[in-house]
Amino acid sequence: MLPGGTPVLGLGDVVVQNDPITGQGANTAAKAADHCLTAILAHQGLFDAVWMTGVFESFWRLHGQAATDWTNLMLGPPPQHVQQLLGAAAQHQVVADRLANGFADPSDFGDWFLTAEKADAYLSSL
Ligand SMILES: Cc1cc2nc3c(=O)[nH]c(=O)nc-3n(C[C@H](O)[C@H](O)[C@H](O)COP(=O)(O)OP(=O)(O)OC[C@H]3O[C@@H](n4cnc5c(N)ncnc54)[C@H](O)[C@@H]3O)c2cc1C
Repeated sequence: MLPGGTPVLGLGDVVVQNDPITGQGANTAAKAADHCLTAILAHQGLFDAVWMTGVFESFWRLHGQAATDWTNLMLGPPPQHVQQLLGAAAQHQVVADRLANGFADPSDFGDWFLTAEKADAYLSSL
């Protein structure tokens, strides 16, 4: 909110700043730019704070949260299930491909990487 009371739609590092360990900063900022542009072009009516909050929330659900959850997981000592997944990626091309593709779209990690339960289920399915 500017000093005069004008709301400002934020994107990129200004509103989502993660550790660079997963290389997601520019990726996420570019997705946010695309998301906001699409929302601006589709919108009819006031560009007010309620609309801006909705645009950010939908961006967060689609992209921001996944990049943040994955980055935060990789910042700590790797849990056992992450060690198992990295070991599997070193031996199986299909796991390596999925891991590499997650850098472009981290929303996939929620289905197999973030929790021990999902990792076990994924490894069992191979
Ligand atoms: C050392 C380093 C390594 C990184 N490595 C990676 C990586 O490997 N992969 C990755 O995805 N991300 C990486 N990042 C993160 C990535 O660079 C940022 O997440 C991304 O650039 C954010 O984009 P942005 O548009 O939000 O901000 P920025 O790219 O910072 O752009 C903001 C722009 O606003 C301008 N500006 C500031 N104040 C004003 C003002 N008052 N008026 C007008 N203009 C202004 C600035 O000059 C700048 O050009 C790295 C960052 C750093 C610092």
